Parts: sequence; C-alpha cells; structure tokens
Amino acid sequence: MATLLEVVDLATYYATPGATIRAVDGVSFTLAEGEVLGIVGESGCGKSTLGRTVLRLVEPTGGSIRFLGEDITKLDRRAMVRRRRNMQVVFQDPFGSLNPRHRVGEIVVEPLEVHGIGDARSRAARVSELLVLVGLPPDAAGRYPHEFSGGQRQRIAIARALVLEPKLLIADEPVSALDVSIQSQIINLLAELRVRLGLAMLFISHDLSVIRHVSDRIAVMYLGRIVEIASTAEIFDRPTHPYTQALLSAVPHTDPARRRERILLSGEMPDPAKPPSGCAFHTRCRHAMPRCSNERPALAQRPIEGGSREVACYLY
Ligand code: SF4
Repeated sequence: MATLLEVVDLATYYATPGATIRAVDGVSFTLAEGEVLGIVGESGCGKSTLGRTVLRLVEPTGGSIRFLGEDITKLDRRAMVRRRRNMQVVFQDPFGSLNPRHRVGEIVVEPLEVHGIGDARSRAARVSELLVLVGLPPDAAGRYPHEFSGGQRQRIAIARALVLEPKLLIADEPVSALDVSIQSQIINLLAELRVRLGLAMLFISHDLSVIRHVSDRIAVMYLGRIVEIASTAEIFDRPTHPYTQALLSAVPHTDPARRRERILLSGEMPDPAKPPSGCAFHTRCRHAMPRCSNERPALAQRPIEGGSREVACYLY
C-alpha cells in the first residue's frame, strides 16, 4: 500500500508561565492508504495534540507532515482548508461538535457547501446516502441533534466527516463519551466503514481494548513520545515496553487460561511541564536501571527474543 501520511520528528510545544510543555516531542510514523493506526496512552500523553497537529488545527513547533506526497507543514490557511477535504476528524463529544440550532441535514451538507461541491440536488442525495451508510433513520435530516441519543449523535458526526470522501479520518476518543453498550456499535461502524470506503484512520484512545478492534498497528505514547509501535497482534501477543505491558495487563484476555498478571503503575503520569530526566517512564518502571534516569532511550528497532521490535527501552 502507498504511504498516505508521513510524520517526521513532529513536535508541539506550549509555552506556559515558567515552563514549556512538550505535548508532542519528536514523534515519527507512517500511515499507509487504508491502514488504521491506533494511538494509545493515558490522559495527558499528547495523543490528542498529535492528532490535532497532524490536521494543523494546532501548529507544530518542529518536524514535518507529508500527506499524499505533499509537505503540508507550512501550507497557508487557505491551502490547508483545501487539503482538509481529504483529512477529517471525529471528536470525543458528539454534542459539542454539532451545532444545536441546525438540522442534521444542514450539519452534514455543510462541508459540501464550504468546498463548493455539487448542486442542491446532488448534495441532498449525498446527505441521504451518508445517513443511511451510518445507520441513521431516513427522516434524520429534518431533525435536530438534541432529538438523538449519544450514539446516534456520534453517527451524525461520522456522516459529516465522511461526506467529502476523505482519505484519512482522525478519530479522537470517538467512543469514550458513550455508554459502554453503545461503544461497540460505533467501533463496529468505524471498522465496517474503513473496509467499505478504504479509509485510513488514526484512532486515538486511552483504552487498548477499544483500539484493538479497529487497528492494524498500535503506537503507544508516553509523555509526548512513542515508546513502542508494532502490529496489533504483536502488541497483544507480546507487549515489550514496560509501559505497554502495564497498559495491557488491565485488558481482560480473550482466553481466560492466558490471563495476564496485573501490573499496577505506581503514581500518576508526571507533570508534562516537568518531565523526568532520562527515560520519562523511569519514575514508574519496575525494571528501571541506573542509566534509565540519566539517558533517554531512542525509539529504534531492537532485538527481542525471536525477532525485533520498534521500542524505546534499554531492556532490549
Ligand atoms: Fe524502564 Fe529503563 Fe526501559 Fe525506561 S528504559 S522503560 S525506565 S527499563
């Protein structure tokens, strides 16, 4: 598959009184057309900032973003609006992202109007097609967002994101505001749409069990950096970084006979304004060695038993 997105050494820093917060601190990855990369980590690890920076909703401090072979890092606002036709986003809170005074049909058609695509008739047909595709009732176009449940509102947000036939969808915690019973419906919908439409996704979540169902590969983030990246099967069969191991130990195993030992992380995620020296995870790592507090391990292909893994840890 051709490369759709290439992010190299991306950095997003925020200046606060007395400190610089390195929300994204040297992140590199590629995403192929039609591929889903899950990005997982605790709240505050920088995963949402990473998604917003890729879309240039937040300006990068450094590094580069290539999308469809073009460096979009420094495109001006107008050019970026045009490029965003191919890169859309679905946020965590569907209600907050839908204008409550607009009918669903108006909400979903808006991107077509902004980009001047089609006439009134073809736009109406496209909106109807999308509402059916995401599983909303045929009369949804004439109703208001408050008339729908949380899960249905997320379906509306997904319909609006897909109306321009984007190549990349950034799904930022798309199910974490929903009831558990509804979460799997939306995850299944995204998994189905991705196959049907050949959509590539960055699927951002704090929950590995959610990410597992949609992702081809998973990148694990800690304090602004990727600490491990591998296929979903590799991450679940053999988590390598001690942080990945701890996250995974909280996920129930599908095979009860292979239940994992629960690894409780000590302490909270450190303050991103004052990250620990060396390996940022050393303050919570049960394998920390003296060098870990002084030197920072690079994310690199490292030998592991029976193969290799892209991981940032001195154990390998
Ligand atoms: Fe733990 Fe050291 Fe590996 Fe960091 S480099 S994850 S502190 S063992």
